[in-house]
Amino acid sequence: MYNVQADFINEKEIWDAIEKNQNPDFEGINDVLKKASEMKGLNLSDVAVLTSISDPKMLDKLFETANRVKETIYGKRLVIFAPLYISNLCKNECLYCAFRATNKEIVRSVLSQKQIANEVKALIGQGQKRVLLVAGESYPKEGFQYVLDSIKTIYDVKTEHGEVRRVNVNVAPLKTEEFMELKKSGIGTYQIFQETYHRETYLKVHLGGKKRDYNWRAWSLHRAMEAGIDDLGIGVLFGLFDYRFELLAMMQHIAELERTFGVGPHTISVPRLEPATNSDIASHPPFPVSDIDFRKIVAILRLAVPYTGIIMSTRETAKMRRETFALGVSQISAGSRTNPGGYENDKEDDPSGQFSLGDHRPLDEVIRDVSSMGYIPSFCTACYRLGRTGQDFMDLAKPGDIKLHCAPNALSSFKEYLMNYASPETVKVGNQLINQTINSMSGLAKQRAEKLIKRVAEGKDDVYC
Ligand code: SAM
Ligand code: SF4
Repeated sequence: MYNVQADFINEKEIWDAIEKNQNPDFEGINDVLKKASEMKGLNLSDVAVLTSISDPKMLDKLFETANRVKETIYGKRLVIFAPLYISNLCKNECLYCAFRATNKEIVRSVLSQKQIANEVKALIGQGQKRVLLVAGESYPKEGFQYVLDSIKTIYDVKTEHGEVRRVNVNVAPLKTEEFMELKKSGIGTYQIFQETYHRETYLKVHLGGKKRDYNWRAWSLHRAMEAGIDDLGIGVLFGLFDYRFELLAMMQHIAELERTFGVGPHTISVPRLEPATNSDIASHPPFPVSDIDFRKIVAILRLAVPYTGIIMSTRETAKMRRETFALGVSQISAGSRTNPGGYENDKEDDPSGQFSLGDHRPLDEVIRDVSSMGYIPSFCTACYRLGRTGQDFMDLAKPGDIKLHCAPNALSSFKEYLMNYASPETVKVGNQLINQTINSMSGLAKQRAEKLIKRVAEGKDDVYC
C-alpha cells in the first residue's frame, strides 16, 4: 500500500497558505500568538502567519510566547543523549552527506560488535544513558540483522555504575516486518528525517540508491506505526529548500499521522546543513537558513506542536544551542562524534565523520554550562521503560502531570550523574541547582523529588517514578 504517492504532502495547499499569509498585520500575528498560548497547537495558516514575521518587536513576542509554553510544559529540563555511529557505509547518493556511496575521501568502517561494545563503554564512562544508533544505508553480510545485533550489544554492556537505558535509532526506512523486529529489540524512538518535503529538490539532492524514492521514505513512519512503534521522530534538513515550505509540509505530515493513528511524532529534529567532506552543497546550502530564522523555526515548532520534543544536535554551536533552549528545545546531544569508532579512538572532527560539529565540548562541560543556566540535565528513561509511550506519553505530557514525574526523575538522574561521573566543578554547580530546584517545588512533586534524591545520595542507581 505504501508505494503510492504520499499525497498528504500537498504542495499547492502549502504555497497557497504561504501566499495568503505573507503580509500579516500585527493584529493577525497577535491572534495566532494568543491561540498558541493555549497550548493546543496551530494549523497550517497559523504557522504560515508566524513564518512571515519580520518586525523585531513581533519576533520578540514570538520568542517570549515560545519560552512561556516551553517552561510551562517542560519546565527547566533538558534531556541529554549521544549519537552512536555504527557504520558509515552507504549505497545512497545524498549530495550533502560525507557517507554517500561515491565519496572516496573518507575512510569506511563498519564496527564489529566488539567495537560497538567498546564505544558503549566509552559513552557509559562519560555518564551517558541514552544513545541514538545511527548508520548509513548499507549493512554487512548479515543485513538488517546487523542493526538488531548492535542494539542487543548496546543494551548488554553493563559497568559498575552504568548502562545504556534507552537506544533510539536513526536508520534508513524499513519494511513493516523489519520494523516489527526493531520494535521487539526494545528501542525507544525510531527517527527518520524526510530531509526535504519538496519533491523536485528531493530528486535533485538524492541522486541514487533506495533513498531516491521520496514516497518510500515519506510513508516510513506509517509502516513503523503499523508495526507497533509509536515513539517516532521526524525532521527536515534545513538549508536544502525554503524553510517556510518545509515547516508547513512537516505540519501536514504530523496532521496525517494524528489523523491516521491518533498520535503524532514524539520528537522533531531540526538539523541545519553543516560542511561535510567533499560535499559542495553542504558548504553552500541552496537555501541557507540565517541564525535568526533558525531561532524562529524552533519557536514556531514549539507553538505549533507544544507536546512534541524538539531535539538540538551538536551540529549547532554552543551559543546557538544556548539560545534555543529558551525557545523550545527539550533534548540535546552532547560530546558527540559522527565517525564510527569516534568515542573509543577519540579524534575530534575526523574527516570520516558525517558532517562537522559546531559544539565540540565534552559532556561534563556541556552539563556544567547547562546547569549554570538553570537547566536541569536529565538522563531519565522512565517513560519508555514503564510503557508510557505514544498516546500514553502525550496524555502524561500535560503540564500538571509532567511536573509529577519528569521533574523528580530529571533531578534523580542528574544527581546520579553528579555522584558517578561529574568533575568537582560540575558537582558544585549541579548540587546547587538541585537544591534550588527542590526548594522551589511543592506538594507531591517535591515529596517525590526529595525521596528519589535521597536514595541516589545513599548510593542507589536508576531510581525513578
Ligand atoms: N542513513 C540514514 C538516513 O539517511 O536516513 C540514517 C541517518 S543519516 C546517517 C542522519 C541524518 O544526518 C540524515 O537524515 C541527514 O538529515 C543528516 N545529515 C546528513 N548530512 C548532513 C550534513 N552535511 N549536515 C547536517 N546534517 C546532515
Ligand atoms: Fe547515506 Fe544517510 Fe548519508 Fe544519505 S544521509 S548518504 S542515506 S548516510
